[in-house]
Amino acid sequence: MEKIVFASNNPHKLEELRKMVGSELAILSLSDIGCHDDIPETADTLEGNAVMKALWVKEHYGYDCFADDTGLEVEALGGAPGVHSARYASAEGHDAAANTALLLKNLSGKENRKARFRTVIALIKGDRTYTVDGIVEGRIIDSPVGCGGFGYDPVFMPDGWNKTFAEATADEKNAVSHRGRAVARLLELFGSLDKDTI
Ligand code: IMP
Repeated sequence: MEKIVFASNNPHKLEELRKMVGSELAILSLSDIGCHDDIPETADTLEGNAVMKALWVKEHYGYDCFADDTGLEVEALGGAPGVHSARYASAEGHDAAANTALLLKNLSGKENRKARFRTVIALIKGDRTYTVDGIVEGRIIDSPVGCGGFGYDPVFMPDGWNKTFAEATADEKNAVSHRGRAVARLLELFGSLDKDTI
């Protein structure tokens, strides 16, 4: 089975990805390759950060690799928090409750609740770099509902649903999610690449 590194140690994401990819590919995490670096994510776009992370692994560890970067883009906030989604409420980042609370505060009184998650995946295969993306459109509800998923899931309701991502099963979320769609495109890309050139 072909092996590839996914530039992440986030157990939620690794579990989601391994489920989506199934037996097509063996996904190695950063710890699986002995990488414990604090990989820089200092670009000002999702694309820039995804490429930066994948290139880091290729350059420092020699593995073909893919990396993702995701942002929640809220229309009434001009696309914020966007590339800053992880560190929206504090520089240390990854405080989902604080990020969600700030989002709801910034949206209070606003009628337009339209939002979308966008994931960009950068793939480095040999000396070539590819990017694909995936989007799910939806809306931000008034207060958190559900305890599954992670991040902004309790306040995000995809279009056509009457529950949040945090109330969905992993399979339900993966079937429509930004990351699910980006991974589907990544797998298509894998299938279309000429194995002799990678
Ligand atoms: P990352 O680039 O995947 O690390 O995501 C950046 C931020 O977006 C993190 O703070 C996550 O909480 C949030 N995020 C990413 N993916 C999801 C998701 O599937 N649901 C909810 N929040 C997410």
